Amino acid sequence: MRELLDDCVHCGFCLPTCPTYAETGEEMESPRGRILLMDMLERGTLALEDGLTRHIDSCLGCLACVTSCPSGVRYDLLIEETRATVEARVQRTPVTRARRAALFAALPHAHRLRGLAYGVAIARALRVPLPKLTPHVTFAALRDRPPVRTPPVGERRLTAVLALGCVGRAVGDDVNAATARVLAACGVEVLAPRDQGCCGALELHAGRAAGHVRRSALLDRLAATGADVIVTSAAGCGSALKDADHPAAARVRDVHELLAEVGLPAQIGRIDARVAYHDACHLAHGQGIRDAPRMLLAAIPGLELVELDEPALCCGSAGTYNLLQPAMGASLGERKAASVRRAAPDVLTAANAGCLIQIGAYCNVPVAHPVTLLDRALRCR
Ligand code: SF4
Ligand code: SF4
Repeated sequence: MRELLDDCVHCGFCLPTCPTYAETGEEMESPRGRILLMDMLERGTLALEDGLTRHIDSCLGCLACVTSCPSGVRYDLLIEETRATVEARVQRTPVTRARRAALFAALPHAHRLRGLAYGVAIARALRVPLPKLTPHVTFAALRDRPPVRTPPVGERRLTAVLALGCVGRAVGDDVNAATARVLAACGVEVLAPRDQGCCGALELHAGRAAGHVRRSALLDRLAATGADVIVTSAAGCGSALKDADHPAAARVRDVHELLAEVGLPAQIGRIDARVAYHDACHLAHGQGIRDAPRMLLAAIPGLELVELDEPALCCGSAGTYNLLQPAMGASLGERKAASVRRAAPDVLTAANAGCLIQIGAYCNVPVAHPVTLLDRALRCR
């Protein structure tokens, strides 16, 4: 920790890319300010309760500061360790404790979330008013699930096993199904065992140690299939799985990364639409993947790819952030929605369920995962 803290030279180059600094202009809401607080905590000159927890909780963990830091400061490791310390030592208020307990009683458990998703689909069908951040779940999307094995079209080039995700299986199994179809069209055999757990990313993001156990268990389970690669279409899951201290972590690929490696089929159907691509933080900053999704989308005939302004700025979803920090989550959601409106797309696309739910809640533009657009284009050849 000391060496990581000493890497920061306090230059401030990271400040303009930090969403909480952009919104508040407060030094302690910036990466540099938070590193200073961590430094004081480490030296014992500041107690956890002295306002530090508030500034650590308000960090989105978006990692934009990791990308923009010219000194290579590993803020990702610093915030992970500090969050774990806060989680272990700080006594939160009863309301906060209850909110966090309710969230984490549901989140890593795909079956519980899927039950809730059916409840949402029923409520939507009955036009019951729902909270703003309720996902747009439909019965058609819930029915579209990947088979346990999808054979490749033509000669098999490799075998991939799909990490389905917990939120992914509840509100995004149609994205998993589209991922399997698109990969299969590119000669990839796809395995999708249903008996798999959550990657632990949301717990790790909140400093909860249980996430480490869950992540290792999932990598053990997926590696045991013998597949050449482990693939995910969720930016947050991919980032967490790649960061694991586990032999199978080196086999993890984001779906866009894998598709860019194997290549799309020669024949692709048209989609005549103006499409804006939003960089999910854990794809762009967490995994350094920015070009592959744009290149794949641009390969669809008729599709006009447009860029958003402030592309590095988080949409405010950030795992459970918009639920646990609703005021800042809403400000950033509105800010991203304004960017989307300025770009005036027909569809907004992002490679993470959380971003799609958040941006969909704040602007009146249809949202879709890039893989579902590729699936549509490949099915209408
Ligand atoms: S984190 Fe990096 S960019 Fe930010 S103040 Fe420290 S050295 Fe500068
Ligand atoms: S992770 Fe994001 S919100 Fe947190 S300090 Fe870095 S840029 Fe700011």
